Amino acid sequence: MNQSSEQIILSVIVPCFNEEENLFPLCDRMLPVLRNCAVSYEIIFIDDGSIDGTASKIDQLSEKNPNIKGLIFSRNFGKELALAAGLRYASGRASVLIDADLQHPPEIIPEMLAKWKAGAKMVTAVRRDRTKDNFLRRWGSVFFYWIFNLIGEVKLNNSAGDYRLLDQRVVEILNNMPERARFSKGLFSWIGFNPETITFDVESRHTGNAKFNLLKLTVYSISSVVSFSVAPIRIWFLIGLSVLLICAIYAAIITIEVFFYGIEQPGYVTTIILIILFGGIQMLSLGIFGEYIGRILLEVKGRPQFIVAEKLGFPDKDNDSDRNGIC
Ligand code: UDP
Ligand code: MG
Repeated sequence: MNQSSEQIILSVIVPCFNEEENLFPLCDRMLPVLRNCAVSYEIIFIDDGSIDGTASKIDQLSEKNPNIKGLIFSRNFGKELALAAGLRYASGRASVLIDADLQHPPEIIPEMLAKWKAGAKMVTAVRRDRTKDNFLRRWGSVFFYWIFNLIGEVKLNNSAGDYRLLDQRVVEILNNMPERARFSKGLFSWIGFNPETITFDVESRHTGNAKFNLLKLTVYSISSVVSFSVAPIRIWFLIGLSVLLICAIYAAIITIEVFFYGIEQPGYVTTIILIILFGGIQMLSLGIFGEYIGRILLEVKGRPQFIVAEKLGFPDKDNDSDRNGIC
């Protein structure tokens, strides 16, 4: 059934980076679920600069099923911007964000839809447990969420990821957020609307490896904290102030000692330790400020968030002027 002429109720947005082996199995599982929902739907795959056959798999799927569409990025822009592109091109009254590797079971989409029909503006799928994560990732994430919730301007749930349903109103709000360095989980929480939650068991990746290694996750975590908090700068101001006070007291003590007992011998170790300590503190503070300045530079340049090289399955007359990407 070609639905291009009727109002689409549900858009399913799937970011893909080198997922050629997963797209057919995903559709095999998801299409029956969507058909059972008895609503008009579209699936938008975003090929985030894959170097395998992901784009051609999307092409084949969209040839076979007119409800399947594709956005092919000109290069890898990262999952966050792939999601942003999907939301900008989604025309459904609700949108579901789902991973391509089948870690997110599509069978819970009807439950999300039911909550949305009952009035929820956002439905978040929360993982029942994180035992499938390896040790480093599990404890790294506990540490990240602890820091984020301590100093971030919004609170996050450690077990909630990007698998969620968003009402069109929420999608419009997100589409009007121009920031390039995006941290969706933070943005969802910032928007509010009291999300409803449902629980699910996260599955193992169908094939392939996770694209986020520890280094990428660390950089992403730092960037996320910087996006949602200026506390590091404030904390650094307090540390600077404390060090200054301690130094002032120490200087006073030394001055008095010199005045009464003359110059003490030699003090080499103390001098070296102090040089290293203050050198380290200054480098660290430069690094923290640098993170924020770098962020300002990225945003003021005002480049498009992503570049869509090719669109598959979208109507030809589709107008891109308001999509904040380049086609
Ligand atoms: N992904 C993407 N661009 C990237 C990295 C990942 O679109 O640069 C997609 C990926 O294809 C998958 C989803 O984001 O659909 C989640 O990625 P992954 O499974 O590697 O992450 P994890 O499950 O470890 O969070
Ligand atoms: Mg995954």
